[in-house]
Amino acid sequence: MDHVARSAEPNLPDPVPMAPIATPFRDQARVGFFIFFQIAALAAIAWVGWSPVAVGVAGALYLVRMFAITGIYHRYFSHRAYRTNRFWQTVFAVIGCTCMQKGPLWWAAHHRHHHRFSDRPEDVHSPVQHGLWRSHFGWFLSSVHGQADRSLVQDFAAFPELRWLDRHHLLMPVLLAVACFALGVSLQQLGVGTDGPQMLVWGFFLSTTALANATYTINSLAHRWGSRPYRTPDDSRNNSLLALITLGEGWHNNHHRYPAAARQGFRWYQVDLTFYALRALAALRVVRDLRPVPERILAEARPGRSITRAADRLDTRVATEHRYSRH
Ligand SMILES: [Zn+2]
Ligand SMILES: [Zn+2]
Repeated sequence: MDHVARSAEPNLPDPVPMAPIATPFRDQARVGFFIFFQIAALAAIAWVGWSPVAVGVAGALYLVRMFAITGIYHRYFSHRAYRTNRFWQTVFAVIGCTCMQKGPLWWAAHHRHHHRFSDRPEDVHSPVQHGLWRSHFGWFLSSVHGQADRSLVQDFAAFPELRWLDRHHLLMPVLLAVACFALGVSLQQLGVGTDGPQMLVWGFFLSTTALANATYTINSLAHRWGSRPYRTPDDSRNNSLLALITLGEGWHNNHHRYPAAARQGFRWYQVDLTFYALRALAALRVVRDLRPVPERILAEARPGRSITRAADRLDTRVATEHRYSRH
């Protein structure tokens, strides 16, 4: 029942240029709501309080859903870095939708676009081109990018269940919010020290807010701060702190050098929790054929600790010149 091809880099047609849609008021309203959502989630702690079980559920939902973004939306749907069957592909897509970062086809299409145009003017979330805030969440909320270019994800758009989930992506986070509330009510009835509103605020609102911001740091900060062991034609960076909070995505310069690999921490000391989880899922036969990093790519890296600031600055300038020389 394996409907998923092995190719990590499918042949893709040229993307259709996205026409700008001038809806500044709607975009401002969205940004306002997004900021309100986060402040309200924090302020609600004063109303619902906290408990070890609510904080624990929030942490668990953060970890599982961060894996859904990194291991599923990113490494599977965007880069096909491993294989799985259609059943697990669908389960993965459902879990991914609970992250409230839109559907798998939308996410993968925008991400493939990012790799094709990294840090060039066409890259919709490049901090180099469009500034830090726009790369962090402004682009995500902009109506210009509300639709994804489906031609970039023809391989996965062939599955009707994925198209359905992509269209109804908000259903899953709503169901998760209801489930969190119901869990809180049930635990309260069992005498555990929590309740419905508390579990809703911690398990859904705070966890989702933290997940969103941590994910967005890879678009904003991981193209700004960190080291560059690989001379990629973009400004991607390796950043160990970001790798920690995003379960391995902070090794972003490694990733831009070889996006097809299932692992992003190329060295044993580059902690990549998503890759460890993928290996565990491979041992359980849920996934298989994790794509490795070729030796020639590993050998290319400049020794990490010896990179000086001056060398990094020079490298960035070379990358920028290379970028513009292509126009
Ligand atoms: Zn990137
Ligand atoms: Zn990627």
